[in-house]
Amino acid sequence: MEKYSWWNMKFKGIIFDFGFTLFEFKDASVKKYLESYKIGLDKSVAKLKEYKVIENQDTEKLFINTFIKERNSNFKNSIKTKREFPTHILFHSIFKKLGLRSLSHERYQELADLYHFHEEQQWIPLKNTKKTLETLTNIKDLKIGVLSNHPNHNTIENLLKKYDLYHFFNIVVTSAKFGMRKPDPGIFHYTIKQMGLKDPSLCLIIGDEYADIMGGYRAGLKTILYKRTIRFPFEQEIKINDYIEINDISEILNHI
Ligand SMILES: [Mg+2]
Repeated sequence: MEKYSWWNMKFKGIIFDFGFTLFEFKDASVKKYLESYKIGLDKSVAKLKEYKVIENQDTEKLFINTFIKERNSNFKNSIKTKREFPTHILFHSIFKKLGLRSLSHERYQELADLYHFHEEQQWIPLKNTKKTLETLTNIKDLKIGVLSNHPNHNTIENLLKKYDLYHFFNIVVTSAKFGMRKPDPGIFHYTIKQMGLKDPSLCLIIGDEYADIMGGYRAGLKTILYKRTIRFPFEQEIKINDYIEINDISEILNHI
């Protein structure tokens, strides 16, 4: 423990990553992700037929192909630039690109919510998430936040509400709302400010990957890596060693 003498400090803020930290994706795999997005896109397209924006098979095909192409290129760009492309903006941009009759902001948001609807059903809280949050809320003067890289803010809020976890948090920040993604240090500083705090070194970030740990470290926070059991392709290596590893979310209680 000596190596981590800063652990003995009194933290003022604790920030959780969402995916694979507070929640897990049922039977996670790249294939399952893609499947949920396909089902989601079908739902959005069905809505566009209902609105008579898509009225024939050619437009439908063109819409789907353009959407997938733009989504993939946005995703690649977001890794390079850390900029987030929220899903409602993606829908709007495809409308413009294809010269379709434009809709209200609420309608683009509705399409985005439908697109993420099936994905939303796959996320469930980890076994000890609720119990750990309950214990943390009993600590006096500790602010608790969620910081998620997700292109649709509603998805994260809906899930926290669905499982009765929303009230544990002082703030829920997503890259969709902020405009930049972790590991951009700006999104960490923004979250801390939203929690009513100033000093990043009095805050902890708990996450399961490079973006959480390297981003948090560069932004001046203390970092805890939750070692999930499943591995993903193209994971970036964490190049620092002053972080703590835990194997269960409840273990953070030993460190604050
Ligand atoms: Mg995560």
